[in-house]
Amino acid sequence: MNIQLYPSIDQIPQDIWETFASHKSITLEVAHLRAIERSGINHIRPYYLLAMEDEQPVGIAYFFIMRMDLASLASDIPTDVRTTLKAWFPNFLNLCMLECGLLSGLGEAVAARAENFNAFLSSAVQEMERIAQESGADYILIRDIPYAGYARYQALEQHGFAPILGFPSTSLSVSVHSFSEYLALLKSDTRSKIQTHIKKLSASGITVEITADGSADAERLECLWQETNLHASTYEHERLTAAYFRAISHELPDRSLLITLKKGAEILAFSLCFLGEDEFCAMHVGVDYACNEQYSLYFNLTFAALQEAFRRGYQNINLGLTTYDYNASIGCEAQPLVYLVKYIANPQLTGAFAQLLRDSIKQPENIHHPFKQKTLSNQVNLPDLARQFEQPSPRNPRDVFNKAYAYDRTHILKLVDLYAFFPPFESAQAPRIQYQGRPIVMLGNNSYLGLATHPEVKAAAQCAIEKYGTGCSGSPFLNGTLDIHMDLALALADFLGKEDAILFGTGYQANLGVIAAITGRDDVVIMDRLDHASLMDGAWFSHATIARYKHNDMASLETVLCKHVNRPKLVVTDSIFSMEGTLANLPTIVSLCKKYGARLLVDEAHALGVMGPGGRGGAEHFGLLDQVDLVMGTFSKAFAGVGGVVAGEARVIDYLRHVARPHMFSASLPPSVIATVRQALDIIIREPERRQKVLQNAAFMAQGLQALGYDAPYRQTAIVPVYCNNEMLTFGLYKKLFNEGVFVNPIASPAVPQGRELLRTSYMATHDEETLTCALEIFARVRTATFPRCAKK
Ligand code: PMP
Repeated sequence: MNIQLYPSIDQIPQDIWETFASHKSITLEVAHLRAIERSGINHIRPYYLLAMEDEQPVGIAYFFIMRMDLASLASDIPTDVRTTLKAWFPNFLNLCMLECGLLSGLGEAVAARAENFNAFLSSAVQEMERIAQESGADYILIRDIPYAGYARYQALEQHGFAPILGFPSTSLSVSVHSFSEYLALLKSDTRSKIQTHIKKLSASGITVEITADGSADAERLECLWQETNLHASTYEHERLTAAYFRAISHELPDRSLLITLKKGAEILAFSLCFLGEDEFCAMHVGVDYACNEQYSLYFNLTFAALQEAFRRGYQNINLGLTTYDYNASIGCEAQPLVYLVKYIANPQLTGAFAQLLRDSIKQPENIHHPFKQKTLSNQVNLPDLARQFEQPSPRNPRDVFNKAYAYDRTHILKLVDLYAFFPPFESAQAPRIQYQGRPIVMLGNNSYLGLATHPEVKAAAQCAIEKYGTGCSGSPFLNGTLDIHMDLALALADFLGKEDAILFGTGYQANLGVIAAITGRDDVVIMDRLDHASLMDGAWFSHATIARYKHNDMASLETVLCKHVNRPKLVVTDSIFSMEGTLANLPTIVSLCKKYGARLLVDEAHALGVMGPGGRGGAEHFGLLDQVDLVMGTFSKAFAGVGGVVAGEARVIDYLRHVARPHMFSASLPPSVIATVRQALDIIIREPERRQKVLQNAAFMAQGLQALGYDAPYRQTAIVPVYCNNEMLTFGLYKKLFNEGVFVNPIASPAVPQGRELLRTSYMATHDEETLTCALEIFARVRTATFPRCAKK
């Protein structure tokens, strides 16, 4: 098949092209396409494709490259969030597309001989993909395929296109010859409503005018059209200009009509109509909204169009793609139209992109029955039909990889360019870092005391490597224990006032190991709903009964304890909840544990080294360290290394050493890490001023952020959350701050409940006031009129 592409209508062989155009409704007619091209609307770059085989024409397709702002279409993003994101990223969802369709929505933009359709379509789409790549288009949209004819396009799904149900078109089909005959078909309540609208107009001295040539009023038409487009802000597609109205009058003098409603010389509303062979298309409408209600302009325009259509003998009237409910109330039926999309910029994101469009196109229900007799012929339930398009069926339903192939949770963020995970830093965890050559204030790591870069700590790690080498190669149980492991465990036990302690490869493994070893099928693990994932996983791993209480809600904890009064119980809580920086109510938890005979495990991951007079954590802060049965800590935060520890009664720790699976079946911590943690412990004991400083820094920032209007509570810990309460806003603010020079952590579900998304800022003892002030200036700079909502002016 020989494919020819023409960049301008003036170059195409028009006779051949016209043989494929549908004159039924002027679809693909040269004169119409010429008007669009000449007027330059939407700054489209058009392509006219013609396929020949054996010197015979096989088919044509019309497509164009165009930029379109999809942000207003994405209706599931709340308006204020959208506005904020647009203020931060003016190009948010402003995408370049290759659209195979007609700007004025008059039908399919592909036509071919039936016997060659498949081969033609596949070659034409290949060509579209090539042009899309070349032009840097983000996606291809093939649109307005009547649902009844979709089977012909289905093969494109194998080529990475996803189908969605698009905006339906509405049309009225009635066998009448006049408006009064049409009115007579309607139920009396519909008829009287219509008559009320008509009366509003006739009483006002507004006249209806019909003309073939609207060029003299082109400027006014542009103005009214713009106003209407603003009102229909969810759907921005063609942007009609005075030049367009002039070009239509010029190119389609016998095939177009302008219906206007005028007060004196002034046009208050217009409808531009196209005259197909058997379809009257009332396509573009513009209304002066200042008096729309007063005169029912919108309704009266439609009635004027119907009158004119009936007068001209039409019985099929196409009322376009919008205002479905209104059109349906006067007897129109929705015609389902299918779109095919492919996200060319990253084909893996096609599914997410299709979903974004699906979520944005509300399918109307067929609930209107305005006629006395006629039942609507189109019984398709559009919302149901739309759902049929939602789930692509996997190629092999028995493939375990289907979960991975179907995983698209992060795709929407990638699509809107707000994906935030795994930023590859190139420097140490210091208060100021370099990222891709830019200076960044680091408000997003957990090296709370700033020890990761402390010279003594680094020297200790280096020394240990010199003496012991780099790794231990085996489980502590058999061959992985060094004298420094034993020494560190004892030093930590001593520090925490416990008889003994056991080390793990990470804090995660510590929680997994201790809970699964301590509890089993007969026991109950009682947990705060917001406990860290590693605690939750430990509970699952143990096969014990899991009972959760409301976050920090002591009445809820007591209810759960009561419920399980006769069973062995372990209560498990974070001491500082890692995402929001809240402190657990340890005094009450301790007394409830005593009352109900439960053991208590406290995860001090974010509190060790930071909280309490001696840096021993949240339990010490409340003076309760001796009341906690098992204290868990991690070395990955204040201790500037990696690893975990559980400290408690000697008999229990000994049991853990021989039973906790992550301890037995995973290699022990390397010597450099052990030396790091040992040295960090010395500094923690020696320099209490570090923990004072980190909390001062957190308080300073919380206060500064609050003064800027952010919802950023200080909770007496080193973590200050900045609430955004919306996932996209959270990732947007994260990215905006990162671009401007501050790194924070974006936190969304499942780490926090949906609707409570936040930026987690955390502080280090080594942040100085100048650095923090610089961060606050950036927070001040990224404020917008819509975010944060309570911003002080
Ligand atoms: N518990 C809590 C409360 C944590 O926040 C974390 C880590 N973020 C862990 C345990 C796991 O620690 P690690 O990173 O050492 O595996």
